[in-house]
Amino acid sequence: MHIFRHTTAALAIGFSAILICMLASIYIGFQHLDQTRDAWQRDALFREKVRASFLMREAIRERSFHLTFATSMSDYFDRDEQREIYNFKAINFMVARDKLIELHMTPLEKSAMNDLMQRIGELRPSIDRAMDLVVENGNTFEALHQMTVALSGQSGVIEEINNFIRVVEGQSRLEAINATREIDDTQFSMLILSGCAVALAAIIGIMVLIRESRHMRRLRRHRDELAQLSTTDALTCIANRRRFDEFLEFEWARAVRSNSSLSLVMLDIDHFKNFNDTYGHAAGDTCLMEVAKAMCGVIVRATDLLARYGGEEFACILPETGGDGAYAIAEKLRTAVAGLKLKHEDSSAADHITVSIGIATTLPQPHDDISKLFEVADANLYKAKEQGRNRVVSASDPMPSQETFQAGMPQQSTC
Ligand code: GH3
Ligand code: MG
Ligand code: MG
Repeated sequence: MHIFRHTTAALAIGFSAILICMLASIYIGFQHLDQTRDAWQRDALFREKVRASFLMREAIRERSFHLTFATSMSDYFDRDEQREIYNFKAINFMVARDKLIELHMTPLEKSAMNDLMQRIGELRPSIDRAMDLVVENGNTFEALHQMTVALSGQSGVIEEINNFIRVVEGQSRLEAINATREIDDTQFSMLILSGCAVALAAIIGIMVLIRESRHMRRLRRHRDELAQLSTTDALTCIANRRRFDEFLEFEWARAVRSNSSLSLVMLDIDHFKNFNDTYGHAAGDTCLMEVAKAMCGVIVRATDLLARYGGEEFACILPETGGDGAYAIAEKLRTAVAGLKLKHEDSSAADHITVSIGIATTLPQPHDDISKLFEVADANLYKAKEQGRNRVVSASDPMPSQETFQAGMPQQSTC
């Protein structure tokens, strides 16, 4: 019971721990999903930033081309048209820049962007002036000089944009590394928690199995004990009347089938009432135990059964035993009891405890009545009493033949 209580408490704790592990695992699983989604979003943001930066760079480059076209290829391109395209590219640049500003930028990116815009702000008047000069005056020395200055400024802007892209890439790389580390940590935690839950479940399973097997063993032991108790005499610890009846019925049927003889030996302690009266009931009980024990020493064949038939009466079933054999065993039983020399002053048979014995032997046939066997054994017991007690009487009163008996320790007493 003690163990049972402890096991139940351990099971309750174990199940709670599994539940906690599972809940924690689910919580971390959600975290994992959030982290993955964040990583995707950051990656998409990074791509947008780089794309907008490329568009800005493209617009600046194209502005440089058109400025160049307006000067060096005047025979093929209309200068006004080139200036128009040139101005239009500035709009392209601003759209890309506004798009970039709308996107979430880190402080580092903002600072790089500010540098870029400052550089453009500084450069813009000179490049616009170069275009104006070229359009208005053609390829004059001043216009060409202004253009050269403007183009080198444009290269600086492109370098600033490249620098901005590098900053964005660096930031993104850092974020990717952090995100990967976070996701790895979360996965590891999930793995540990799931492992704990599985290990706990395994431990609980083993505990349940152990408890069940213990329970089953206990039940089996109780069942065996009950079976033993229900067929054992409480005082003498030999077979009781119930076991005797079952055994006789079984052996009778077997004797009928195998056409073998069966002997029944009935024993009764002589003047036992006087013994109780003289020495007390407790001494009577002890005497019954001693007598049973002594007789167990005689009934050593595994197929024979000695039982307490009731009160101070005992009975012995001897399967496959003829009259001679039964007589020999009965005589041994009588001698064993007498040999105890249990003092009995108020007995007409002897100055110690003795038994009278009646035997019945039969070769049972299918329609024979089992009660006849009892009648004969009882009648012979009565004769033994009448003839002066402390003796064996069988149907034919045969002389004991020389049968071989196995001597040994009592096998039927369970005490
Ligand atoms: P007989 O020689 O004719 O058999 O005489 P008896 O006194 O043995 O026979 P009787 O039937 O008159 O008395 C049997 C006695 O056995 C009476 C009863 O008190 C006693 N007895 C029966 N069962 C027990 C028991 O379990 N313990 C004790 N102490 N005595 C018992
Ligand atoms: Mg009696
Ligand atoms: Mg008696």
